[in-house]
Amino acid sequence: MGKRKKSSRKPAAPSTARRRQPLDTAFTCLFCNHDKSVTVRIDRKEGIAQLVCRVCDQRYQSKVNHLTEPVDIYSEWIDAADAAQKESQGHRRLATSSSRPAPAARPSFDSDED
Ligand SMILES: [Zn+2]
Repeated sequence: MGKRKKSSRKPAAPSTARRRQPLDTAFTCLFCNHDKSVTVRIDRKEGIAQLVCRVCDQRYQSKVNHLTEPVDIYSEWIDAADAAQKESQGHRRLATSSSRPAPAARPSFDSDED
């Protein structure tokens, strides 16, 4: 019986299958909730990014650096919108629980001094 060659050769998984696609620059709008209606355009020459929703026309502008990605602008916009919303609701009073049970133990002093 001859030695058998062990063929444990695994086919190398092609890691080059990744498709080359542009960075995701379309996001869901916070205001109108349309999917991929928000686009971010980064102008690195000017150092600004412009976010706009093509459905409800929400706009946001921010500064960018060479590392800024569209998703960074998007999350900045979310933060800004969130802060603005909190501010507008900031005057809301804290609702104290009005369903507090009345004190059952009523002190009744029976000062019968006879
Ligand atoms: Zn929108």
